[in-house]
Amino acid sequence: MQCVFPRWAVLLIGLVLVSTALHALPQIPSPENTAEARVDAGIHAGLVEDPQSSLTVLAVRQLFDLGQVTLAPAAGVNLGYTRSAWWVGFRVPAHPAGKVPRERLIEIGFPTLDHIEFYGTASTTPTVVGDLYPFGERPIRHRNFVFELPADTPENALVLMRVRSEGTLSVPLTVWTPSAWAEYSRHTYAGLSVYFGALLALLIYNALLWVSIRDRMYFDYVLFVSGLAIGLAGFNGLGMEYVWSGWPWFANLAFPLGFSLCSFGVAQFTRSFLSPQMVSTRLDKVLLGCSILSASVAVISIGFSYMVGGKVLTVATVFTTSMAVFTGLYCQKHRVASAPLFLLAWTLFMVFGIAFALRNYGLIPTNFITLHGLQFGSLIGMLLLSFALANRFHSERRAKEAAQAEMMSARQASIELLQRSEQELELRVAERTAELATANAKLAASELQQRDLAQHDGLTGLANRTLLADRLSQAIGFGEREKRRFALLYLDLDKFKPVNDLHGHAVGDALLKQVAIRIQERLRHSDTVARVGGDEFVIILHAIESDAGSLAVANDIRDALGQEFQLEQKSIHIGCSIGVAVYPDHGVDASTLSRLADEAMYAAKDAGRNRVVLTHS
Ligand code: GH3
Ligand code: MG
Repeated sequence: MQCVFPRWAVLLIGLVLVSTALHALPQIPSPENTAEARVDAGIHAGLVEDPQSSLTVLAVRQLFDLGQVTLAPAAGVNLGYTRSAWWVGFRVPAHPAGKVPRERLIEIGFPTLDHIEFYGTASTTPTVVGDLYPFGERPIRHRNFVFELPADTPENALVLMRVRSEGTLSVPLTVWTPSAWAEYSRHTYAGLSVYFGALLALLIYNALLWVSIRDRMYFDYVLFVSGLAIGLAGFNGLGMEYVWSGWPWFANLAFPLGFSLCSFGVAQFTRSFLSPQMVSTRLDKVLLGCSILSASVAVISIGFSYMVGGKVLTVATVFTTSMAVFTGLYCQKHRVASAPLFLLAWTLFMVFGIAFALRNYGLIPTNFITLHGLQFGSLIGMLLLSFALANRFHSERRAKEAAQAEMMSARQASIELLQRSEQELELRVAERTAELATANAKLAASELQQRDLAQHDGLTGLANRTLLADRLSQAIGFGEREKRRFALLYLDLDKFKPVNDLHGHAVGDALLKQVAIRIQERLRHSDTVARVGGDEFVIILHAIESDAGSLAVANDIRDALGQEFQLEQKSIHIGCSIGVAVYPDHGVDASTLSRLADEAMYAAKDAGRNRVVLTHS
């Protein structure tokens, strides 16, 4: 690859200095005698400008013979952007002394030249080549323009060519021995293959990443690398030889289009990779401006002028790369995570680029690395940027995974919390349920107790008047249904009051309890006994067969109560009077039966107490 601009600048100064001088062309040393079997003919060349394209080959030969030419400066033939056609001539190098003259090759190492008329030493009919013409028309198929000098070409004969180009008019001329040229070509093709192979690999790898990840960064990177590949392939003639050999119209555009795409890609990649809008929206806008400027090169080159496009391209690429580096520095200052690798990539690119430029000025020695500085720099830079892309992808994925893990653990924690509170709730509900059950049981028990209290006599535990009424109506119902008899007994203790008076109320109470027990002992379990007044009891004898049966039970009770009671070491004697009424013989309703039994009891009292009276009704 050639460095256009530094040489171009040096040449302009040289041209100004020597433009008025007229010189005969110097003799050129024999390439066979040099270490590399090559001679830089450019520095021994003479130039004639032909702005109107009016000079004939014969007229120009005359000018050269008269020494009316401008000598090329020490840096070689580089005329920058020029609309003129230029005649370039040099003398055929000397043949090595004492050896048979061999053929040589002349190489013009600037593949983007539009139009070259090669006249050789004598011909007035030129061989026409250039990137405006199909590749197949070249006398020697090579990315550079190569012409043959036959072995019998006389020494010092004038080799003449006329060149014209809309792009930079640089004419690096070398005279080779064929074998040296073949070796040099092999090496440069091998180097270019490695370089473009690496570019292609990076390009495909990141294009595939873009297809799968769909992140704009990868697309911008692909734009930038493909732009560089197209531009370089246009610049070094490889594209013309292998890719667009059939489309000469594109050959001329490949260089500006490729590099404008590259510059556009650099600006866009800087925007998507560093996200400068996060730290400065103005910086992002400037980069957007760089993108637009770069894109305009393509429009100008296609639609307007290749030359103007090329000039704008220089401004666009210088400005864009400077802005990319500045953005990297700015983002680094603001601690943007992806800035360090980005900066490292550009720094290495620039270090190699500067080494390449310094070598061109002869300030540092030529070696493999300085000679191919731009290739090394760009390759290492692009590799690092590709690595930075992968790195960024990984760090983003790691961040996403960490966020997910955090979310999962937060979710897990909230699930556990929920489970714990659910368990607590269940526990509390169980406790409350148990408490409620206990309370319910207590309530039921107290209800039962209350119901019991409501239906029983507090002192003796016998049924009270309420329960008695209930049992009596049940007995009537049952008697009706089953046609069964029952007896209702009214019992009043005889002379109970004096017990109270004599022994005290407590003893009276104790006696009442004993009375209750003795009565119950004489009854069947199904019978009912109730205390309905102070010393007054009512008994229902169920399912009796006859009046006699009921009277027998009544007498049995009377006898039992007539027995002596032992209370607090006191023996007490009482008796009882019992009135008896039988269902249905004496009545079929509760009030009638109660009245009759009561009346019978009073009749027993009246008859002298301690007896049983069956109602007469
Ligand atoms: P009678 O032979 O005519 O039946 O006369 P009595 O002494 O038994 O007297 P009566 O039946 O007329 O009165 C019952 C007495 O029983 C009245 C009262 O002093 C007593 N008494 C009533 N209730 C209670 C009680 O709950 N406890 C005790 N210790 N005495 C009671
Ligand atoms: Mg009494």
